[in-house]
Amino acid sequence: MAINWTDAQIEQVVNAVIKNLGATQTSTSTTGWDSTQYNGRKLIGVYADMNDAIDAATQGYKAVRAMTIEEREKIITEIRKLCREEAPIMAKLGVSETKMGRVDHKTAKHVLVADKTPGTSDVVSQVKTGDYGLTLTEMAPFGVVGSITPSTNPSETVICNSIGMIAAGNGVVFNPHPNAIATSNYAVDLVNRACYQAGGPKVLVASVVKPTLDTADVMYKHPAIRLLVCTGGPGVVRAVLSSGKKAIGAGAGNPPVIVDDTADVRKAGKDIIDGCTFDNNLPCIAEKEVFAFNSIADELIDSMIANGAYKISSEQALALSKIVLTEVKNPKTGIVKKTVSRDCVGRDAKVLLAKIGVNVGDEVRCIICETDFEHDFVQHELMMPILPIVRVNDIDQAIDLAVKAEHGNRHTAHMHSKNIDNLTRFARAVETTIFVKNAPSYAGIGFGGEGHTTFTIAGPTGEGLTSARSFTRYRRCVMSDNFRII
Ligand code: NAD
Repeated sequence: MAINWTDAQIEQVVNAVIKNLGATQTSTSTTGWDSTQYNGRKLIGVYADMNDAIDAATQGYKAVRAMTIEEREKIITEIRKLCREEAPIMAKLGVSETKMGRVDHKTAKHVLVADKTPGTSDVVSQVKTGDYGLTLTEMAPFGVVGSITPSTNPSETVICNSIGMIAAGNGVVFNPHPNAIATSNYAVDLVNRACYQAGGPKVLVASVVKPTLDTADVMYKHPAIRLLVCTGGPGVVRAVLSSGKKAIGAGAGNPPVIVDDTADVRKAGKDIIDGCTFDNNLPCIAEKEVFAFNSIADELIDSMIANGAYKISSEQALALSKIVLTEVKNPKTGIVKKTVSRDCVGRDAKVLLAKIGVNVGDEVRCIICETDFEHDFVQHELMMPILPIVRVNDIDQAIDLAVKAEHGNRHTAHMHSKNIDNLTRFARAVETTIFVKNAPSYAGIGFGGEGHTTFTIAGPTGEGLTSARSFTRYRRCVMSDNFRII
């Protein structure tokens, strides 16, 4: 049940959490916690030293192992309840701390996590019986999971991963994104509060006060960490996959959208703007570039404008690209690479437009422009409400360019069409983990679409939309000759 927080209450908690950022607890002390207070209290499960955090998560793992499935599910039910209740706080906190995204959409994302992240029922055993007796295969926990989380969905990822990892029987230690520490650690605290309220230990999941690449390195090398789960960009996914440990990598995407001449074009325009602007384009699944058949492109653009898009000229697009992408020189190789400006990621469309001297109101939620395929807006994963549209002649050209723009991430792609041959051809060619037909991108993670949700979509390592079962290892138990009753 959602709580109707007043703006003043939310503001008070957000300020208290940000002020409280430096507060720590030692591995032996959990005092100073009053479950009825936010102000001035220490966040539970947040340690100064990564080694202490791993020790606490190890104790958490021992506690989970001793629980019945029913007890684990009780904790998960309480996490869902608090996640729903405190969704507006975490949403406001996330936007205040990272300066990215939208409070209303972040609130909806937390409710989605609470409602649609699978719990213990996702972990199922298999049995095979035959002439030689019975073989049981169970999905067992790994132990302590080390989880790296992004700035784009910080508390959503902490809570979603916690639910799945606890459901599977693991302990968890987080190394959150340095730009989203308060929000991520608030979520760690929430999971621990829920656990205690449901009769579990005081600390079930842990994190550090100041996560850095060094604390991540401690995590990679610590013998207690049996599984690494990384949700982030290509650099960190590469680092985790080179750790020598079992790792799940949820990496970058650059989702293309094709709109062909059989689509419901007016609906496609609305769906694409709805998906592209969700949380200001922060979700890795959100529409990043459009390939529209020439014959319907004008109508599509009209529909987008009718649904809150503002069309800029190619000169304006060039000026904007120089602001949202900055050139960074690698000090070792001397190679200059364009990188998205962190000052622009996840910002409102009106803020981005103001940077090129265009002043609009809140009614504008997306910037659109017509570009060629080579344009920076098509080639880079911007994570901001800017949507380039490339005109194509036919389905062959559309698929060819869309597959190239996806850059082999095999993450997510979208299509608006009623031609099942075209839909099937694109889905086969692009080979993405998620393929959404005739809906906004977020339908792919269960928001207005069937199926469970996750904020860790593991394309590179193949788990797909992760859930509790992704964080398990298979164990076999064989009973020779007996237990077959037929
Ligand atoms: P990011 O790559 O900047 O950071 C992710 C985390 O990795 C942070 O905690 C960061 O401090 C850490 N990190 C970065 N480099 C590291 C290294 N070499 N070693 C150890 N830790 C390192 O991610 P972000 O900007 O917060 O998120 C955006 C990116 O993540 C986008 O590319 C987006 O597509 C991707 N993403 C993917 C998913 C998914 O489910 N596939 C979900 C969310 C975000």
